[in-house]
Amino acid sequence: MASNEPNVSQDFIREIVVEDLKVGKHRTVITRFPPEPNGYLHIGHAKSICLNFGIAAQFGGQCNLRYDDTNPTKEEQEYIESIERDVRWLGFEWGTHLYFASDYFEQMYGWGEKLIGKGKAYVCDCTADEVRERRGTLTEPGRPCAHRERPAAESLDLFRRMRAGEFPDGTRTLRAKIDMASGNINMRDPVIYRILHAPHPHAGSAWCLYPMYDYAHPLEDAIERITHSICTLEFEDHRPFYDWVIDECELPEPHPRQIEFARLNLTYTVMSKRKLLQLVQEGVVRSWDDPRMPTISGLRRRGFTPEAIRDFADRIGVAKRDSMVDVQLLEHCLREDLNRRAMRKFAVLRPLKLVVENYPEGQVEYFEVANNPEDATAGTRSVPFSRELWIEQEDFREAPPPKYFRLYPGNEVRLRSAYLVRCTGVVKDAAGNVVEVRCTYDPATRGGGAPDGRKIQATLHWLSAAHAVPAEARLYDRLLAKPDPGDVEEGQNWKANINPDSLEVLAGCWVEPTLSGAKPEERFQFERLGYFCVDPDSAGGTLVFNRTVTLRDTWARIEQKQKS
Ligand code: ATP
Ligand code: MG
Repeated sequence: MASNEPNVSQDFIREIVVEDLKVGKHRTVITRFPPEPNGYLHIGHAKSICLNFGIAAQFGGQCNLRYDDTNPTKEEQEYIESIERDVRWLGFEWGTHLYFASDYFEQMYGWGEKLIGKGKAYVCDCTADEVRERRGTLTEPGRPCAHRERPAAESLDLFRRMRAGEFPDGTRTLRAKIDMASGNINMRDPVIYRILHAPHPHAGSAWCLYPMYDYAHPLEDAIERITHSICTLEFEDHRPFYDWVIDECELPEPHPRQIEFARLNLTYTVMSKRKLLQLVQEGVVRSWDDPRMPTISGLRRRGFTPEAIRDFADRIGVAKRDSMVDVQLLEHCLREDLNRRAMRKFAVLRPLKLVVENYPEGQVEYFEVANNPEDATAGTRSVPFSRELWIEQEDFREAPPPKYFRLYPGNEVRLRSAYLVRCTGVVKDAAGNVVEVRCTYDPATRGGGAPDGRKIQATLHWLSAAHAVPAEARLYDRLLAKPDPGDVEEGQNWKANINPDSLEVLAGCWVEPTLSGAKPEERFQFERLGYFCVDPDSAGGTLVFNRTVTLRDTWARIEQKQKS
């Protein structure tokens, strides 16, 4: 778990926790991660998960996984299952502390009656439009409606009948009675219950009256004895109401404390579930777990590791001001992790035949190649070599441009871990395309060394054509064309920024024989090409590899520039 790693960063939230424990406000720490099951979790949620579970683990406390399922029309069982899978995959465990806000509906309803009895809530017959119209603005106070002075007994009777299903949707609400002139619009008698004749995925058909998020959330926290209720900045103005609900419902001390932090925004990335749902529904991507999606399941399918995501969350830390994080930092964390752990393999994505003219036909020899130069314990593997090989098309030029050191007629290169070979010519088809490159090898260079110290400027990867295993490669580019997803012309929306070329599929690739039988989610470095991960589409057929990320890391340079 992230928490067991040394040097867990200190931030303003952890400082609050430390202080609360020191002064004895709390004896233990209880946090929660409260997703609404209306979509798949994304990398922004991962930040919140790492924070909430991380703090709980660091202080020996507990973190609840709680479905904030107060809005039945958008919530689905599929999402519930995906959330649990994703949180676990990230490396966090809630144990027995799995809760549903909808399990508290009865208690919440009871507090609604209590508020009415105290004169702190009333049933209002205004329509949604009328409520909005009377709410006022930042500069103008709101105007109370006649229902505000309704006797408590009448409100109580109506509230019970609302629950009993006597009234259609939208005809009545229960509102908190606070202050229609408050400088904070959230305190101008917010609606706390609405009528909605809709079944609920968890509570079934028990209710036609549902609590609003701002009323339900503090009660959920108080019921679960949450100590620190961590949420994103847009809830800062809702905090007075959060505290009001807990105070007026007279919930036991110590009350949970809401603390806001800046949500994660990433360059080239849309982050709201609503927008991600649009991408799925409109077929821009194949599914929620499409490897281009910033969902946790998409990142996983792409080849991200939970360790890299946790490291990323640690490095960005938590702040009180919104900002945009460069997606290259996320990729940098991933490369660092994969560089340490991913086995190296040979793969040729755009193959070109290379024939070694003086190598005996039918002969095969095996070369030992290191699995991971970063990890001495990773061992070696045997890679077969024979007369006919595959190399990358871009590793050969008939007419080399300046500073091209790879294969061209007359030039000598190293075939990694095998031999030095010198290009002798090409074979072309009727249309004049090079279909085969010819070369000779120097038997004295076995293993790829240059015994007489002659200068070799390029080392190529290769595969024995007779032994290579067929594969498909899917190369991904950013889903959005611009760093700021909101950067569009007037009259356009964020979808104008969708990059039409975010996926390139290469059929007819070849990979080394040790990859046959590779399983979905196994990750490798294809030498010189990038990190790749086996896609679940491989099951039973041709191996399919997703390019997780290329090898070149520009992050260090960017970071340097930012500092200077
Ligand atoms: P979205 O806007 O993507 O739909 P949400 O806030 O509606 O997200 P919830 O399911 O309500 O999604 O969020 C669960 C938790 O995750 C909340 O505590 C929320 O603050 C947090 N969260 C959501 N998005 C981000 C983000 N981009 N960065 C950090 N935390 C986030
Ligand atoms: Mg939400």
